[in-house]
Amino acid sequence: MSEINYCPECGGPLVQHVVGGEARGHAFCHRCKEACSDYPRVVVTVFVACGDRLLWVQRDLQPQRGKWAIPGGFLEEGETLAEGAARELQEEAGILLPPGALHLYMTGSITFINQMYVGFRALVTTDHCKPGTESMACGFFSRGDCPWSDLAYPQVNDSIRQAYRDLEGGRFDVWQAEMTERHYELRTVSQGRSDP
Ligand SMILES: [Zn+2]
Repeated sequence: MSEINYCPECGGPLVQHVVGGEARGHAFCHRCKEACSDYPRVVVTVFVACGDRLLWVQRDLQPQRGKWAIPGGFLEEGETLAEGAARELQEEAGILLPPGALHLYMTGSITFINQMYVGFRALVTTDHCKPGTESMACGFFSRGDCPWSDLAYPQVNDSIRQAYRDLEGGRFDVWQAEMTERHYELRTVSQGRSDP
């Protein structure tokens, strides 16, 4: 059960949430009639390719300020997954793509930081990009030029290496990743498409 003892909405006392006699591991507010839990947050990312290079942004925010990452961030209320990914891309790298130009590419659970992510992919024909207020710099890097020793989230490097392999091979499966404290697994959930 979380350490919250009072409802953040109404200030009422929280009790253990029990459904059908089974404790759910989080609290419940009887006044709001709602569960009160740190449900996992959704992160949306987008792998933007120009030739065999992928777009990276250098973070100008904590955590991991100054480190490089694939553009992405938390999904906001009211957004579809692709809308959120397109917004993050524009905010962090100044690249404006319609949500419909983003193709589903990866999904994953990252249990140790209580997040799940949905990654899209997109192709651009020019490498023009411009850092936004949340990034110091941005640029397209091939696998060999990528700042591997300076990445914000090395836990997901296997997914990024896979993205470079897919680009080089011109074939794009949809991938599902499971990342827990003890376990990392990336597997395909669909047969590849060789269209962009
Ligand atoms: Zn309440």
